[in-house]
Amino acid sequence: MTADGAYDLICIGGGSGGIATARRAASHGARCAVVEADRLGGTCVNVGCVPKKVMWNAAHAMEAVQRAPDYGIDVRAGGLDWATLVSRREAYIERLNGIYARNLEKSGVDLIRGEARFVDPHTIEVAGERYRAERFVVATGGVPGRPNIPGGDLGIDSDGFFALRHRPESIAVVGAGYIAVELAGMLHQLGSRVQLVVRREAPLRSFDEIIREAYVESLDGHGPELVNRFTPAGLEAGYGGYTLHAEDGRSLEGLEQVLWAVGRVPNTDGLGLEQAGVALAEDGSVPVDRWQATSVPHIFALGDVTGNAFPLTPVAIAAGRRLADRVWGDREGRHLPYEMIPTVVFTHPPIGTVGLTEAEAREAYGDDVTVHSTRFVPMEFALAPQEAKQRSAMKLVCVGEEQRIVGAHLFGTGVDEMLQGFAVAIRMGARKADFDDTVAIHPTSAEELVTMP
Ligand code: FAD
Ligand code: NDP
Repeated sequence: MTADGAYDLICIGGGSGGIATARRAASHGARCAVVEADRLGGTCVNVGCVPKKVMWNAAHAMEAVQRAPDYGIDVRAGGLDWATLVSRREAYIERLNGIYARNLEKSGVDLIRGEARFVDPHTIEVAGERYRAERFVVATGGVPGRPNIPGGDLGIDSDGFFALRHRPESIAVVGAGYIAVELAGMLHQLGSRVQLVVRREAPLRSFDEIIREAYVESLDGHGPELVNRFTPAGLEAGYGGYTLHAEDGRSLEGLEQVLWAVGRVPNTDGLGLEQAGVALAEDGSVPVDRWQATSVPHIFALGDVTGNAFPLTPVAIAAGRRLADRVWGDREGRHLPYEMIPTVVFTHPPIGTVGLTEAEAREAYGDDVTVHSTRFVPMEFALAPQEAKQRSAMKLVCVGEEQRIVGAHLFGTGVDEMLQGFAVAIRMGARKADFDDTVAIHPTSAEELVTMP
């Protein structure tokens, strides 16, 4: 606490970024508080990564049961008790909420419950009380967005997905990013009739072509039905269910549920950032420089609220810890470079990607780019009937004569757990020859990455 009773740091938002920053700053001796308006842990713990991964694991278990007969195992998936799955998932999350609260306490970080609002550049108000700090971190995350069309307020979003108390028989999932493909895949695997509705030819536009193609190919007969070139114009509720209308006059009828997964909106409404003099971007996000500083030097922002290109939990955590190390831990120059960030999309099978796509590399390095790729059926499917075999796809994007690897793009069973180690090597500057010189682990899918022609 400073001489006038102010904190050294107040983090607004008790999610991935806010908690990590405050705990790290406290470990360096700073007097810190976290303000949280809702459940501790933020999006990731309560309505994001954690409940999502539980649902993915359930879908994965269902898939394993369905495939067991390939190995002569006589089991049948006897259906899914959605209510049990959800209540166990929520009990797990409650345990995590408690663990987060105890960790803050153990770190000596005060928890202030309520919604924070700046009243001046060094003061916030929470539930009628005023708190002062020398520095602030805004880590208020984002909320699901909805399209601005008639009926856009009907249906559910990803928060609503986690609130579902039964499995919808039929659902249209509208969107083309991580959330749309993940939730559509899980619902399909858990038995719903799912239509994945995208505005363009295919979803996952920002991913490498090999991923997009392999993912779309995998849907054929094994995943949600892809409804493409369908730009939503309106949603209507009727006795026979929802009808989703497209701009070109097509419609999808008789839907039990519609889920919007059309992007997220930064959480800055009502935060009073203008009272503190912090500049906002047009979309409501908080622009920051490489030091996570806003337009007001003692007010920092990190995580999803900044509209950074990688709205991911480990990114918010890494940005916060580095900021705390620099400001309170004397580690000069420490900051997060927003590149070579590995990420996994939990589809069925999953997608893993790090670094530049081939298209990005060609734009940056032109003819200096070389590409190595492979497609194969993993051994896991060796005994499966032809029509049930899933295909994997992998691509390495290299630059220069020494073929430094600048991107890796993986699709297939197991890549979610495979990518992290390869990301370390790539970040350290691995070349194709280093991969080739590494003895393979056989028989695995990962060995394809070190045996690629
Ligand atoms: P958040 O975690 O959103 O925390 C912000 C907190 O601030 C919230 O708790 C909110 O209540 C609080 N708050 C807001 N305004 C105020 C205020 N005025 N006063 C007080 N408190 C306030 N990322 C991954 O890395 N892997 C995944 O598998 C993954 N899956 C996801 C699945 C879904 C469905 C979603 C929606 C997201 C997923 N993400 C995933 C993204 C990840 O959840 C976010 O990147 C991460 O939570 C961002 O952390 P944050 O600290 O920026 O914000
Ligand atoms: P994204 O921004 O990734 O994708 C939303 C997409 O929906 C857009 O890119 C757009 O694609 C499409 N879209 C936008 N508006 C409309 C509209 N009106 N009608 C139809 N389609 C529309 O957002 P998400 O909400 O999926 O995810 C947000 C972030 O959360 C992700 O970027 C990711 O970082 C994080 N996340 C991470 C996960 C993980 O790590 N596994 C899982 C889930 C989320 P197009 O322009 O091609 O039509």
